[in-house]
Amino acid sequence: METVRQHIAGAWSSEGRPSPLTDPYTGAVIAEVMSATPEQIAAAVAGLSAAARSRAPLPLHERHRILRRASELVAERSDAIIATIVGESGFTVQDARTEVARATDTLLLCAEEARRLTGEMVPLEGAPGITGRLGFTVRHPVGVVCAITPFNSPLNTVAHKVGPALAAGNAVLLKPSLATPRTAVHLVEALLDAGLPGDLIALIHGDGPDVGQRLLEHPDIDFYAFTGSTAVGEHIARTIGLRRRQLELGSISTTIVCADARLEHAMPLIVGAAFRKAGQVCTSVQRLAVHEDILDDVIERLLAEVDGLVVGDPSDVLTTVGPLIDESAAVRVASWAQAAVDAGAERLAGGQRERALLQPTVLRGVDATMDVMCREVFGPLVSVVGFRDLDRAIEQANDTPYGLAVGVFTDDLPRAMDAAARLRFGSVHINQTSSARVDLMPYAGTRASGTGQEGPRYAMREMTEERLVTITI
Ligand code: NAD
Repeated sequence: METVRQHIAGAWSSEGRPSPLTDPYTGAVIAEVMSATPEQIAAAVAGLSAAARSRAPLPLHERHRILRRASELVAERSDAIIATIVGESGFTVQDARTEVARATDTLLLCAEEARRLTGEMVPLEGAPGITGRLGFTVRHPVGVVCAITPFNSPLNTVAHKVGPALAAGNAVLLKPSLATPRTAVHLVEALLDAGLPGDLIALIHGDGPDVGQRLLEHPDIDFYAFTGSTAVGEHIARTIGLRRRQLELGSISTTIVCADARLEHAMPLIVGAAFRKAGQVCTSVQRLAVHEDILDDVIERLLAEVDGLVVGDPSDVLTTVGPLIDESAAVRVASWAQAAVDAGAERLAGGQRERALLQPTVLRGVDATMDVMCREVFGPLVSVVGFRDLDRAIEQANDTPYGLAVGVFTDDLPRAMDAAARLRFGSVHINQTSSARVDLMPYAGTRASGTGQEGPRYAMREMTEERLVTITI
């Protein structure tokens, strides 16, 4: 049986506390993961802290070269990485291919941005009475960045944390989800093989309450880069005091379809965004708000698309919807769907469950108090809601604690711009779904969806200290 290693104080280690790693589709144990002991955590942070504080950060061109080479290595190793992702996350081959292609690009973006890391000139002479003074800012690494990542984007989200942290000149401690540790090993191997000094990166495995908690309490970590649920994000914010953080959290995402929407364009995007990764995407279409004039047409097209989805073994290249991360997740989503039906909703498709597999589920006739509407589903379930007045649809989309991303399909530009101004989300995508991220974008939630920006260029700004220098001549 494979042992999933950790990388601590510059060396790989097969020591630690063992726990089984399970294939979500078959339920079989596929590896033994080594979780960090308190001593290993202390050694990992001490090693990074010494490296970050005892010598100058790598030159920008060297950061560029390492990240570019790591991107090439991830691309060269994509077959092995795809197989790993499918095996431990249950994502389909198609989803895993996308994950690897995006991560390759994310690392390349980080390499490019490493060469563009600058401060800015400050026009001091704009102040009355100031002459002969020059002001500018310089960006310095924060020191040790701790990246804590979720299972649902086991390579690209990890690249979005580790890549900018390294491009900004930091040392990085990565604690990926305990469900997807081997994918993180691939990334760290690629970085080390690309020439990253071993003492600038540590990879430790473990659960949240024990290993994660110790990381939050460690005083020598300077910055926390977290993606995961809002509950854990709130806990992190409460625990780490004044230390800086980037928290990318949960969501209830809506996509709005106006009466003038081009449905032949919109519907395949909506179905993809609702059911890829079995709906386990933070920006997944959970609520589909449709103008009543086209509601029947949209539902007919939606059900035809859903009918064409291939549900089953994620390692089969034809499969489009695989299992959820584990059986308990599938049981939870199926029970929310059943509770909605018991309370009067109509099930138009899906709902059947077999172990961790849940058939793509479409509901209508839901109300705002049902779990499928007012909690993050994170599964292959979409609720269709009719609207007559766009103002009302905007109000309903805003009426959750979250604010990550929203989509609006309309060709009426003034209406689109008005909606964009009033939708309280980090991203508003016109003629795309809520799940239309491009990796170079600034990416951030509002309200309970988090704080701080992702996207290599923007994350690097978060992960540096901007210091002002003034010179009087
Ligand atoms: P999770 O919050 O359960 O776990 C995320 C990470 O936090 C894991 O590595 C986990 O071990 C760790 N963790 C848990 N408790 C901890 C603690 N007390 N201290 C320190 N670390 C702890 O999330 P998940 O189930 O892996 O992922 C799903 C969630 O992530 C969803 O809510 C989804 O919306 C969110 N997500 C958000 C984005 C975004 O960009 N906003 C992207 C992907 C996923």
